[in-house]
Amino acid sequence: MGAQLKGEEEKMKCLLCSGEMEKTTVPYTVDRKGYHLFIEKVPAYVCSQCGEKYFDEKEVEAIQNMIKALEEKLKNVLVAA
Ligand SMILES: [Zn+2]
Repeated sequence: MGAQLKGEEEKMKCLLCSGEMEKTTVPYTVDRKGYHLFIEKVPAYVCSQCGEKYFDEKEVEAIQNMIKALEEKLKNVLVAA
């Protein structure tokens, strides 16, 4: 019934070893002066061969925005050494 769309999944290749990347979630930590941020699950591609992690541009951007907003709010809490 109807046309079937052929699922052409774009396979990502690892830049380091050309291994196959798998879409998964990984913990993400941000170490900054004054605080550490731990995000339990961030969507990422992980190389099945060497374990290199790649994050989607939009995820990275979202995290960066979060850090920026967080630092704005922490300004009054964290005391500059
Ligand atoms: Zn790799």
